[in-house]
Amino acid sequence: MARWVCSVCDYEYTEEAGDPATGIPPGTPFEDLPDDWRCPGCSVGKEAFVRASEEEGEVRTDEEDYL
Ligand SMILES: [Zn+2]
Repeated sequence: MARWVCSVCDYEYTEEAGDPATGIPPGTPFEDLPDDWRCPGCSVGKEAFVRASEEEGEVRTDEEDYL
């Protein structure tokens, strides 16, 4: 399952966990969230979320550190 990260406040939506606080049951794909779903952290819409890559075994930590 994928993870989605809010580009505004870094809230992370995990499809596996859902978002019980807003009534989203575990296992809900991000695409299936209602269009009026808002980030629990900062209330932006779904369009502000970006998909987090989740490729096991290919964590390129040394590339994330450069500024
Ligand atoms: Zn947010």
